[in-house]
Amino acid sequence: MDIILAAEPEIRLTAFLSVLAAMALWELAAPRRRRDIPRVIRWSNNLALVVIDTAILRLSFPILAVGLAVLAEERGWGLFNIIEAPFGLAVILSMLLLDLAIYLQHVMFHAVPALWRLHRMHHADLDFDATTGLRFHPIEILISMAIKLVNRHAMLTPYRHPKMTPVERTGSWPDAV
Ligand SMILES: [Zn+2]
Repeated sequence: MDIILAAEPEIRLTAFLSVLAAMALWELAAPRRRRDIPRVIRWSNNLALVVIDTAILRLSFPILAVGLAVLAEERGWGLFNIIEAPFGLAVILSMLLLDLAIYLQHVMFHAVPALWRLHRMHHADLDFDATTGLRFHPIEILISMAIKLVNRHAMLTPYRHPKMTPVERTGSWPDAV
């Protein structure tokens, strides 16, 4: 577990690049639409945004994640702290609830005018391909991460607590970012 936590940025980056490469190759092999804007212009914009968003996230969230984790621990928050469920079922339900939360977040970003101003950047892409899914305003990324953190701590916190000492717990929390 510690090895996974220590390598979290590398694992995350590898998964991200693998999925992006697979999608881009799929689009290249079997395109479903004509491309009007050269890839080099859109990709350099969209990928530069990912780098900026990631840098802002990594700089902003370790403190917030730790603070949230400590608070969640002190208060004993967590759905599966209240409801007894097998670990596998709890993980599947947590993933579904996280997905539902992100869906509701998307609906909210369309419905609330102030949030739409941020989110329309994603819909203002001049063409449409795998990198459109990466094109988000940094503030939307921060709000999205806050929602994910609250959701994650609300769902999975109890399972990470019992077997860890307080020191181990504190040390492991930044992976929530
Ligand atoms: Zn949208």
